[in-house]
Amino acid sequence: MANPLYDALLAPIRQDDTPFLDFPQGGSLSYRAFHDAVARAAQVLAAQGLGPGDRLALQVEKSPQALAIYGACLMAGVIFVPLNTAYTAAEIDYFLTDATPALFVCDPRVAAALAPVAAAAGAACLTAGPDGAGSFADLAASMPAEFAAAGRAPDDVAALLYTSGTTGRSKGAMLTHGNLLSNAGALCDLWRITSDDRLLHALPIFHAHGLFVAVNTTLLARAGMIFLPGFDRDAVLAALPRATLMMGVPTFYTRLMDDPRFTADATANMRLFISGSAPLLAETHAAFEARTGHRILERYGMTETSMNTSNPHDGERRAGTVGFALPGVELRITDGAGGQDVPPGDIGMIEVRGPNVFKGYWNMPEKTAEELRPDGFLITGDLGRIDADGYLHIVGRSKDLVISGGYNVYPKEVEMVLDDAPWVRESAVFGVAHPDFGEAVIAVVTANDTAAQDVDGLAPLLARLAGYKRPKRIFVIDDLPRNTMGKVQKNLLRDRYADLFT
Ligand code: ATP
Ligand code: MG
Repeated sequence: MANPLYDALLAPIRQDDTPFLDFPQGGSLSYRAFHDAVARAAQVLAAQGLGPGDRLALQVEKSPQALAIYGACLMAGVIFVPLNTAYTAAEIDYFLTDATPALFVCDPRVAAALAPVAAAAGAACLTAGPDGAGSFADLAASMPAEFAAAGRAPDDVAALLYTSGTTGRSKGAMLTHGNLLSNAGALCDLWRITSDDRLLHALPIFHAHGLFVAVNTTLLARAGMIFLPGFDRDAVLAALPRATLMMGVPTFYTRLMDDPRFTADATANMRLFISGSAPLLAETHAAFEARTGHRILERYGMTETSMNTSNPHDGERRAGTVGFALPGVELRITDGAGGQDVPPGDIGMIEVRGPNVFKGYWNMPEKTAEELRPDGFLITGDLGRIDADGYLHIVGRSKDLVISGGYNVYPKEVEMVLDDAPWVRESAVFGVAHPDFGEAVIAVVTANDTAAQDVDGLAPLLARLAGYKRPKRIFVIDDLPRNTMGKVQKNLLRDRYADLFT
């Protein structure tokens, strides 16, 4: 029986003795050994009574076993539901109640607290620690390293992945075998990933970036992966000479740039640095190239679609843009409401259609109907424009658009001006309620050098903008609030300054 993701990603590795995972402390795990672990884990799922279409939710530290459980879900047709390791018991309660998994796998250290939450949601509970120890491994140890893969159709759901919750409550995106496989194939082609590559993996594996973009492409290309537990600057610097490829969020790259050991020599073995999940400042792009000689390749995606656009591998990687639609993906810029295209070059809603676009939100038919048009285009919620050369520029999320005195203010445009001040490290622009204007434009900035900060001195720079776009107030703060994927949490900023004018 066919099983698109198992057949493409896992069946071919059964007899492959080359290394799949390479560990920072030394040693490696071969593809063959990984396949054995996947098959044993699939036996555990079957023994627990899980079959095709059932859900398995997992909240564990990054480990080879967590990857094997992901593989086992693909093999057994079970829907994989990875959860952010930062979620608290109350949040886990929401996700388990929503996804109703038959099995929940958690860290042994929190099992006592989470087992009742799982039980209340009707899920059995097993444990898997960062070192692999736990009740899941105990059961897997006595299982045969063989399993008959369940039959799956391209349209069957492989994973339920919750969105990051940047703009509201996280939504469960139903991603099919066809969605994930088409995207992995497109990315391997586009980024020229081959078995000669070794990916430096420092991302979490509960998110589309670290799981689907990184792991699925590695498996498909049968490349190797240096598997770090998380982003640790020393560990990343130590691994770089053995790596050819790195995928990161922008904060990974800014943190590396803060270290004088990060040089052209340190990156001499590298073929490609890829960035996504949040905007990479054009300034970081330029500084990175000046330091290392590498031009970061920025791409754009979201939980609901995996990757939508990418800068080219061979052509110009244009700073401040996310490149072109992936092969097979259609991109359009519309008025948002009726789905009418805006004139070329104008800012509008980014909409995408293609084999990567998800099946809909789990348990949220109304939300699905609001965002997924009958013609198959997904309304991304991101605003952008396509320049004369076809590169997509993201100007912000539609929920972050500020409407002040009836005029639209796109935060990115104002942030780019503020970032031009030499003492400004980064900035975030947002709107708060204002009695006259409806909303007022507010900015927070962080400083490179606390001694040099001069808010009044920003006025001449801001004079480049029309008056209604200029921030009514500018605050210097220590750090922008960010979530684990490096996304700036503007909702927190809006809350913090909500009463400024009221
Ligand atoms: P939620 O949908 O729950 O509010 P979220 O949209 O942050 O959360 P994700 O699916 O993890 O959850 O993130 C997708 C979003 O990340 C995109 O819609 C876009 O706003 C942003 N994004 C991803 N890559 C880039 C990029 N290269 N540049 C700018 N923004 C990006
Ligand atoms: Mg989103």
